[in-house]
Order: sequence, then structure tokens, then C-alpha cells
Amino acid sequence: MAFDYLIVGAGYAGSVLAERLARVANKKVLVVDRRNHIAGNAYDHYNEAGILVHKYGPHIFHTNSRDIFDYLSQFTPWRGYEHRVLASVDGQLVPMPINLDTINQLYGLNLTSFQVEEFFASVAEKRDVIRTSEDVVVSKVGRELYEKFFRGYTRKQWALDPSELDAQVTARVPTRTNRDNRYFTDSYQSMPLYGFTRMFENMLDHPNIKLMLNTDYRDVRDFIPFKEMIYTGPIDEFFDYQFGKLPYRCLEFKHETHDKPLFQPAAVVNYPNDYAYTRITEFKYLTGQEHTKTSVVYEFPQAEGDPYYPIPRAENSALYKRYQELADVTPGVHFVGRLASYRYYNMDQVVGAALTLFKKINVEGKPNGAAGRNGGAVSGANGHSNSTHTAAEPARP
Ligand code: FAD
Ligand code: UDP
Repeated sequence: MAFDYLIVGAGYAGSVLAERLARVANKKVLVVDRRNHIAGNAYDHYNEAGILVHKYGPHIFHTNSRDIFDYLSQFTPWRGYEHRVLASVDGQLVPMPINLDTINQLYGLNLTSFQVEEFFASVAEKRDVIRTSEDVVVSKVGRELYEKFFRGYTRKQWALDPSELDAQVTARVPTRTNRDNRYFTDSYQSMPLYGFTRMFENMLDHPNIKLMLNTDYRDVRDFIPFKEMIYTGPIDEFFDYQFGKLPYRCLEFKHETHDKPLFQPAAVVNYPNDYAYTRITEFKYLTGQEHTKTSVVYEFPQAEGDPYYPIPRAENSALYKRYQELADVTPGVHFVGRLASYRYYNMDQVVGAALTLFKKINVEGKPNGAAGRNGGAVSGANGHSNSTHTAAEPARP
């Protein structure tokens, strides 16, 4: 059988496109993933103790986009969940992002919101331009708090000083003068009630979708006929690293199960200044599962291994641009997702990018460019796709 699309990767980017193409555009789709499971890095499963854990580290769904939330709601009911994080600093566990309580607890003070604002203003370093991840923090909370909360964590996580990283990295974490101790403030904050993997199973459950796991696309692309490809893996790998390797930061995950109901006082505890790991996550907080035991994961950043994080800095963007230019002139292949577009995307942004690409494909694929009935516009997550080609012949990279 000939497929309309070969989709490389069964994570968010690949699965959203498979679902839309199969269900809305009635295309025949083959999804391949070289891992032995669907859901990409969002994959979760019940471990040997029967506790639902995230294999590749904590995944918390949050978005400001109603369209994206509604789209995913077709495939899962939700459990409302607001994420909270503590940081281990100077022998105390204090709220992170830094807020009024963080400052009062850390320094044994009793400041008001107004006073803490004055305090931040008195310690902040003036910066005319906010260019790096160091600028972002020191210009808001000064050097001492920067060193206590950000410098060590960032150096561990990225093996770079914050002054060597784009502003967007630490700008993900706000500073607050009120007592809001939530990690995110998005309008939708929820976890899929039966887990991420179940949600992906529902997305991919369609007669037009065939799934092959444990399969690298390079092993099948010459035997299985298809018209176009959607590629969600690392873009430099697709082009055989011809301009050199794009740096991705890797992680090693150490999972543990403890014979007690609770391990730590919050879902995540960050360790900016001690240990080789950055944070410990206790899954039962995220999932709401009740169990007499509890499972946690430690994250150890690494230079080598599976690519998890694109590293946002100017020289890497420049190298990515060269690959992107190649992608733009590669007919019949669409590049989408965190690894293929080399962007530090959250899950909702990848869903947004995939829905936007689908809309483009669906419009281009129709006579007179008429818009698809169900391929509606998506707003609220800044997704991009970087190839719009719809050539009839498949590309062979
Ligand atoms: P992926 O999930 O990486 O999927 C790509 C798939 O392609 C993979 O399964 C891979 O095996 C497959 N593939 C690659 N190359 C090939 C090949 N040659 N042949 C076959 N298959 C191939 N986002 C949030 O919104 N909230 C969070 O709390 C959050 N926490 C995170 C924590 C960690 C530790 C990490 C690493 C990421 C986190 N994210 C979070 C980001 C989130 O994981 C991503 O945005 C999202 O999963 C990316 O989806 P994707 O489809 O682009 O890529
Ligand atoms: N960060 C930090 N200290 C913290 C939390 C975050 O320095 O306690 C910095 C660090 O550089 C991190 C970035 O902020 O990589 C983004 O944090 P986030 O929690 O969003 O990281 P992710 O969940 O994507 O790994």
C-alpha cells in the first residue's frame, strides 16, 4: 500500500499531524519511531511498583491557548494541576520562582509586596540591553539572588555560564513580588487524567494510521512508498551533519521507588548549588495517584546522549539557519517539532506548530487553495513550521 505521508517520530509533532491528516484530510499515514513507544519525550508508563512515571523527566501541561487545550481535550479528560517548585538554598527549601515568601524566608524578614519591590530595585543591576540569561536575572533581582538561585543551576544544566546563553532561557522563570508560588501562570494547567501515553494512543487510533515502533525511518524509506514526509527528529541528523553537529543538551534520568508514601514536600525540588543533579521530581504530586510507595526521578545533565534540549545561543542559531535553508529547498519534506526546528519549545508550542503546519498542508493540498473545514487556525503558542513544500515526489535525503 502506498502512503500519502511518512511521519518520522510519534511525539507531539508527529502524532498531531498523523491525527489531523488521517481524520480531517483522509490521508493514509505511516508513523515510525525508533523508540519502542509512542508519545516521544512525554511518554509515561506504570513502573514495576505500579506508579505512573514520566520516563524522560517531569512533563507538566500548561498553555494560554484555548485552541490547543480544546484540541487535546478530544483525546483525554484532564485533572486540574498547578505545579509548585521549591529550591534548596542556604539549607532551606524556599519557593521558586522567587516571590515575596522566598525573600522573607531566606532572609528571616517580614517585608510587604511593596517593600520587596523596593528591595529588588535596590539590588538590581542596571542593564541597557537584556541580551543574555545573566542580564535577565541580575537586572531584576541583583547578583546575590542570581548566584543563589540561577548561576549554579544554569551552569549545571547547560554547561555554560548564564552570560553565554540567550535571555530566553532564564526568562522562562519569572520573579514575583506577591505570594503566588505557582511555577506557571497559564490559563490552562492540567494533566491528562490517564496519562500522556493514553492521550497519544487515542490520537493515533484511526484506520488511516499505521504505526511502526523500533523503526528508524532510514531503514524503511526506500522500501515503503510514500508521497511526502514529515520529519520531527534532529534536523542536523537528517542532513547527515553536513555543516557540523548542532549542540543539544542531554540528560540522564535516575528513577527510584521508595517504600514510603511521600519523599519530599513538593512535586519538584531544585538544587541550584549542590549535587550533580539539577532537580528531583516526585510523580504522585503530578498525577494525583494514591499509593503506599512513591517514585522519584533525578535529572543529571550530560554532554553526550539522546538530544533533549536545543541550546539557545547565537552561534547555534546561526548553524541552525544553515540547516533551515537546506530544509526550505528540500521538496516533499516538512520539518516540525522541538528537534527539527531547534527551538526550546514546550509541549503546547509543538502542538501549535503542528496544527499550523497541518493547516498549511491542507490548504495547499486542496484545489483553489480552499481552507479545510476542520483545520482551524491556532493561536496562543508561538509555533513555527519551516517548510511548505508539497512536491509530488518524495525526497531522499
Ligand atoms: P519528541 O517528543 O522528541 O519526539 C520526536 C520523536 O522522533 C522521538 O520519539 C524520536 O524517537 C523520534 N525520532 C527521531 N529521529 C528518528 C528517526 N531517525 N527515525 C524514527 N524516529 C525518530 N514541555 C512542557 O510543555 N512542559 C514540561 O513540563 C516539559 N518538561 C520537559 C522536561 C524534559 C526533561 C524535557 C527534555 C522536555 C520537557 N518539555 C516540557 C518539552 C517537551 O518534551 C517537548 O516540547 C515535546 O515533547 C516535543 O515534542 P516533539 O514531537 O517535537 O519531539
Ligand atoms: N533555572 C535556574 N534555577 C532554577 C530553575 C531554572 O537557574 O531553580 C534556569 C535554568 O537555566 C533552566 C532555565 O531557568 O534551564 C529554565 O527553567 P525551566 O524550569 O523552565 O527548565 P525546563 O523545565 O525546561 O528544564
